[in-house]
Amino acid sequence: MEGDESDAKLYIKASCSICLGGRREGCFSNCPYCDVSRQTYIEASFNEVKDILGSTLKQSAKRELISYLKKDD
Ligand SMILES: [Zn+2]
Repeated sequence: MEGDESDAKLYIKASCSICLGGRREGCFSNCPYCDVSRQTYIEASFNEVKDILGSTLKQSAKRELISYLKKDD
């Protein structure tokens, strides 16, 4: 089902929950779950997507998105 829009997922980059963003030491000093900046990708919830779009899109982009979404109604 690759490419099927119904399976589309959105991800955000967040501080690693395994090594706590690098605060846990010992065996977590070389954490395999995150990158060099101690961040990892996690699936974004619908509310997270709404918050990010609401706080980052310019007003013109918000209007464009709203009219695009209304086309399906
Ligand atoms: Zn980590």
